[in-house]
Amino acid sequence: MRNIPRVCPLVSRRGARTIVVMPATPMLRPPSPPARSPFHLLTKPIGSRCNLDCSYCFYLEKEKLYTDAGGMRMKPEVLETYVRDYIAAQPCDTVSFAWQGGEPTLLGVDFFRNVVALQAKHARGKSIENAFQTNGVLLDDEWGGFLAENRFLVGISIDGPAHLHDAYRVDKGGKPTFARVLAGVQVLKKHGVEFNTLTTVHRKNSGSAKQVYEFLRSTGSGYMQFIPIVERDAANADSGLWLAPPPDHEDAAALDAQVTPWSVRPAEFGDFLCRIFDEWVKRDVGRVFVQQFDAALANWVGQPAGICVFSENCGRALAVEHNGDVYSCDHYVYPRYRLGNLMNTSLAALVDSPAQQAFGLAKSATLPRYCRECPVKFACHGECPKHRFLRTPQGEPGLNYLCAGYKRLFKHIAPAMETMAALLDAHRAPADIMRIPRAEWLPSRRARG
Ligand code: SF4
Ligand code: SF4
Repeated sequence: MRNIPRVCPLVSRRGARTIVVMPATPMLRPPSPPARSPFHLLTKPIGSRCNLDCSYCFYLEKEKLYTDAGGMRMKPEVLETYVRDYIAAQPCDTVSFAWQGGEPTLLGVDFFRNVVALQAKHARGKSIENAFQTNGVLLDDEWGGFLAENRFLVGISIDGPAHLHDAYRVDKGGKPTFARVLAGVQVLKKHGVEFNTLTTVHRKNSGSAKQVYEFLRSTGSGYMQFIPIVERDAANADSGLWLAPPPDHEDAAALDAQVTPWSVRPAEFGDFLCRIFDEWVKRDVGRVFVQQFDAALANWVGQPAGICVFSENCGRALAVEHNGDVYSCDHYVYPRYRLGNLMNTSLAALVDSPAQQAFGLAKSATLPRYCRECPVKFACHGECPKHRFLRTPQGEPGLNYLCAGYKRLFKHIAPAMETMAALLDAHRAPADIMRIPRAEWLPSRRARG
């Protein structure tokens, strides 16, 4: 890696010559004060721009919100204000940046060399971590070397073996991408980059849980995220957006929007996670981490779930677009959820704003009675409000589309969770469950629904 001069964080390579670009000294406003509590910002430094054209992507349509000629690339003054404020606003000693897209590799390695230099410049003695979500297609040795040297944690988006991955994850020409993604994974392995996997669960792979799990294990993924694809067609596409926005319970038409043909069916999502759990609990507890199961165990023992969807309230996981616009959540990048812009308002003021607090508290405040009385509410919390567009059997709006799946999952894993919770109580590792015959797992005390 080239050394980056302290006085000049921007270095770019054009043709055969390395050109040191002196940035115009931006007039940055004073740094943000600390926010009331830690928060997380998903960074979209290239907006929704992507080199792929995955059928189910909910973010590609955001190009309709930003039609700037700058090509949706975070400008140097926005980047520096963001990096400086994000560090200053975190009331903790470790600050974790999360870079996402669109596809962040389209920005090139030099953009992220600059990021690292800016982080060092504004660190204020805090430890800095970086997570980087990518489709993997553009990863090469230059990326591998950079990501390893700067200890980025890389998330690879991959939906299973080729025939399942390529069902929806195609490039702009409609061509499959699996082989290129796997080549990217090989680059990460070659350079010793720490990586995990993000797998969407959709109509085409939801029936192949065991195959997906075996495949992800074979890639060396030690941490798996499974994200349900749930999108609805826009009832009217006046805004130019083709997917329906999050539900508005006052608007019956919005509740009636149909899910897209690639959305996972609720029961199949539940079955998918149950089958993954059965494989995991046999041999991988403590070796492979599955986000949903980590969160479930945390809820079972009364600890914070660690992810917003299974927490009582949300609102501390926001998104920042390439131009500095800050939104309540990356699933809520719509004009009505825009909190402001970090170029003229401090991050602390945005994340602690009354609007954002109301957004976070609405998660529990709008839970229908059916959920409030549900035996697995302590583990589910009604999941993400974006998915709450069904009516309960009593006709109340606000039931989660995935409810049937979650009921199935939490009931299925309850004996194992009770047993792992008891192991923790006895100061033993949850992984000891793999040595206890199933017949001896504890009966479920909480998830009786
Ligand atoms: S399982 Fe269904 S009823 Fe229970 S809390 Fe979750 S969404 Fe609500
Ligand atoms: S709206 Fe959903 S994804 Fe967004 S912060 Fe809340 S629970 Fe999380």
